[in-house]
Amino acid sequence: MTAATHFPSFPAGAEAAESADAVLLGLDPEQREVATTLRGPVCVLAGAGTGKTRAITHRIAYGVRSGQLMPASVLAVTFTNRAAGEMRGRLRSLGAGGVQARTFHSAALRQLQYFWPRAIGGDLPRLLERKVQLVAEAGARCGLRLDRGELRDVTGEIEWAKVTQTVPSDYPAAALKAGREAPRDMAEIAQIYATYEQLKRDRAMIDFEDVLLLTVGILQDRHDIAEQIRSQYQHFVVDEYQDVSPLQQRLLELWLGDRDSLCVVGDASQTIYSFTGATPDHLLDFRTRYPNATLVKLVRDYRSTPQVVHLANGLLAQARGRAAEHRLELVSQREPGPAPVYAEYADEPAEAEGVAARIRQLISAGVPAGEIAVLYRINAQSEVYEQALADAGVPYQLRGAERFFERAEVQKALLALRGAARSGGNDPLLDDVVELGSQVRAVLSSTGWTAEPPAGSGAVRDQWESLAALVRLAEDFARARPGATLADLAIELEERRAAQHAPTVQGVTLASLHAAKGLEWDAVFLVGLTDGMVPITYAKTDEQIEEERRLLYVGVTRARHHLTLSWGLSRSPGGRATRRPSRFLNGLRPGSGALAPRAGAPATGPVAAGRGRARRSPARCRVCGRTLTEAGELKLLRCEDCPSDMDEGLYERLREWRAARAKEQGLPAYCVFTDKTLMAIAEAAPGEDGELASIPGVGVRKLDRYGADVLAICAGQEPGDGAGGDA
Ligand code: ATP
Ligand code: MG
Repeated sequence: MTAATHFPSFPAGAEAAESADAVLLGLDPEQREVATTLRGPVCVLAGAGTGKTRAITHRIAYGVRSGQLMPASVLAVTFTNRAAGEMRGRLRSLGAGGVQARTFHSAALRQLQYFWPRAIGGDLPRLLERKVQLVAEAGARCGLRLDRGELRDVTGEIEWAKVTQTVPSDYPAAALKAGREAPRDMAEIAQIYATYEQLKRDRAMIDFEDVLLLTVGILQDRHDIAEQIRSQYQHFVVDEYQDVSPLQQRLLELWLGDRDSLCVVGDASQTIYSFTGATPDHLLDFRTRYPNATLVKLVRDYRSTPQVVHLANGLLAQARGRAAEHRLELVSQREPGPAPVYAEYADEPAEAEGVAARIRQLISAGVPAGEIAVLYRINAQSEVYEQALADAGVPYQLRGAERFFERAEVQKALLALRGAARSGGNDPLLDDVVELGSQVRAVLSSTGWTAEPPAGSGAVRDQWESLAALVRLAEDFARARPGATLADLAIELEERRAAQHAPTVQGVTLASLHAAKGLEWDAVFLVGLTDGMVPITYAKTDEQIEEERRLLYVGVTRARHHLTLSWGLSRSPGGRATRRPSRFLNGLRPGSGALAPRAGAPATGPVAAGRGRARRSPARCRVCGRTLTEAGELKLLRCEDCPSDMDEGLYERLREWRAARAKEQGLPAYCVFTDKTLMAIAEAAPGEDGELASIPGVGVRKLDRYGADVLAICAGQEPGDGAGGDA
């Protein structure tokens, strides 16, 4: 996982303005605009790795350092515990450690715990960690037996109903209206949902969604409490806003009241939680809601090499739906790196072994284990990788860094270090790195730690890695603060614990694609990429399939440098090779048909493109030279309002042809070609297949189906009678 951006600490008493300006040094002009626009609503729409999170953390730090934002008045919200931990780390390194960075859930839980006695009375009910069991019980009470898949889907429906604030009796109508694919009869689900709620009440428990629902309820009903919260938090920043659920949005509105100090950032192409009711509409419609909002777009990708970015853009080029309409073509700012590697294996264990072997190579070539991740679609896939990495002697971590300070071994170590610091009095230790490091090692040895890692894997190795991280932290601390004592270190650790600023634990990260959101590594292995896993079999509707594609996009864009995509053809050795690589890689991986090259890219697939393609600057309007960000403009390669050199007659003929084809196939016209693509064709008037294929929006399938017709029209001939047909 990425280490926090380290920022030099400033001498006490340094000029506040100067120290605030220093925060802006590492930002590009658009990011700087985000960071310095501290008032009013701000919306940042930008692709993966363009520095959204960086821009908002610097914005907070700039506001705090310049004295314009009180740290305690800012609430930064994000979606996963890992991301929140990461953000706390970044804020702290930037000198804004006093700012709260939390998930919606943890921020709400904290408020609920605090206000419960006053609002409701008594203690907060126990939190139900896993719903599935209780849903099964509710099903049984209703006389309904659910198999595993149904249980998962019914639970998903209950979660959806709750985040959309739908009560059981309203579920059937609401689900129908929303076009939900219910796993069972909707009335049955409503009945299970009602029983589940009852069981929960009987047992004095609340679930994950209740935390938000109850907080919303209290804030709605109790103006005194709402006012108290509003007087504390005056400025809100939301990362990953594309995945906000209606319930989270409601909570955010209640926190805000009638104020508008809100900064949201997101990327519609990374919407991966719509199955839970989340929607990118709040992000995309932000300006409708706040017409005076400052809108900033970022296009430079600072994270990944041109090779990784090319693949990411290629994946998005095939995406459809509202999010895709707003996609932003990424432009890598990094030096070229290795081409993405596609690897096919006979079976899953062979794939895991191959991945482990490749990871060993990377580690011996100097890539730290903590900078490598293996990402999969579902958690059950981790086991075979745990085994393979353990067999290969590679350390790995499954647990998120965010719980670091809650780990038993860490708590024990902190206790021991505090004790040692006290008994050592305040004598400064020798001021060199080794000395404080060895003091810490000595203290930790007394709790059973050894300098060498234990053999094997599992819990013992995991614990060792936690303590090794503490030792490294002590060494870094001593280096940064020569002359620091064990007591100083104990204070630093206490501050970090309070801020949940975990040190980086060395070890390959094993995580699901969903959990990897917002994070980055030098080397990423996307594994198990078979059709059926990505997209997952239960993704049925077009929207569900699109979400799976975005999930893969999220995975690809986690890699800074090395990216490997792999799949196994059967589940176990000797099994029948019934699996196929993910359909999303068609046209992108070598040997799966040509990829229609993007405008400005060479007419070769990603592998060839990987060989040292030069750094590309953002796409510019071919008429006025402005940087283009909108997908539609990128298709045209000019601003919407810049004069077009289109052959109007040709455009009209193409439109007529499109209308006829659409009618014949019973499709809306834009399914044949969108207006933008048609315009781009009329502007380019391509003379042959290759030229036509290079127009964005003309994919392999469209080329196949309509290429001959379009080329004929462009050549001034009559199109054929629907040659190509439907695939
Ligand atoms: P995601 O969509 O995946 O959440 P993001 O837009 O939030 O990505 P960041 O994580 O903020 O992107 O940034 C990606 C990487 O690029 C980070 O390592 C960050 O430090 C680096 N980066 C961002 N902006 C700059 C910049 N102006 N100069 C140098 N590095 C930068
Ligand atoms: Mg981010």
